[in-house]
Amino acid sequence: MKIGTATCEKGQKATGYIHTAWLGDCSEVRVPVMLVRGAQDGPVLWINAGVHGEEVSGIFAIHRLFERLDPAQIKGAVVATPGCNPLGLKGHNKFTPEDQLDLDQQFPGRPDGWLSEQMAYHFFREVKDTANYMLDLHALGGVDAAPYTVFKSAAGVNPKINADTQALALLMQAPFNCHVDLTTATGELPGSVMGALDIQCILNGIPAVMVEMGAGNRVVWENVDRVCEGIQRVMRYIGLLDGEAAFIPGQKIVTKRCFPTNTRGGLVFPQVKPGSILKGGALIALVKDYVGNVLEEIRAPQDCIVIGILENPIANAGTVITAMGLEWYETDQ
Ligand SMILES: [Zn+2]
Repeated sequence: MKIGTATCEKGQKATGYIHTAWLGDCSEVRVPVMLVRGAQDGPVLWINAGVHGEEVSGIFAIHRLFERLDPAQIKGAVVATPGCNPLGLKGHNKFTPEDQLDLDQQFPGRPDGWLSEQMAYHFFREVKDTANYMLDLHALGGVDAAPYTVFKSAAGVNPKINADTQALALLMQAPFNCHVDLTTATGELPGSVMGALDIQCILNGIPAVMVEMGAGNRVVWENVDRVCEGIQRVMRYIGLLDGEAAFIPGQKIVTKRCFPTNTRGGLVFPQVKPGSILKGGALIALVKDYVGNVLEEIRAPQDCIVIGILENPIANAGTVITAMGLEWYETDQ
């Protein structure tokens, strides 16, 4: 198999890169590729990390996974791209610094569009041609967060794609899982969410999940271990590895989220930890001025799960202070 410059024979590992764009100094934008190919044929699992440049834990989860993978035990192949947006990573920036676009809103991209659109185009072409399943590893830059998954279901897609997408999410065994039904969840997040990698995968028949690995801007090692275990469960589920992939009951699926913002700029003091379950009206954060006066109280609008909370205290009005789950249920299988 060949992905970009990486060529991998059966029973081997290989590395290379995908060329995704040219820069002004005539250098290439190169997305690194890691391949491991089993001695026998089977499905292809693609694991992506670093589509947002401040979300670094996924890179290390991929490295740890590849240390563990033995081609002799694999039926199929794993493709990993641990630095999907090299420009964002280099700039410690969620977006592509050169054009200020969110690469994860540009898929499937355009061959003659903005820089990020061209990067998305050349990357996604390889994904579409190769992947049978996609795990897209994210984190939350500037936010302290519990690990969780986000899985989406879309209209007009084979129901098996939506069902497999949910299965992949639950196999990660995160403390909770956010389900976004794209037929009803309009306007939940700003921007062109249809340009997200996982959504474009699903629309192209590739079950795909976003795996959020806690806080960005640093490596959260306990989540590196957790996600590495989860990926191996996914590999057993899709037949890449031998063995059972058991689902555990009682997993939380969040069906409605909200992202409260402040109206007073100042210093934000969180009063709760990520993963907490709160009653309506509970205090989530205080906004104070620089001499310590309270300017605003951010409170839970109703009973909710705290998914993440702002880490850097300095916030203009309109900053997302917390991500929270408003409605959820527990799985019984
Ligand atoms: Zn992200």
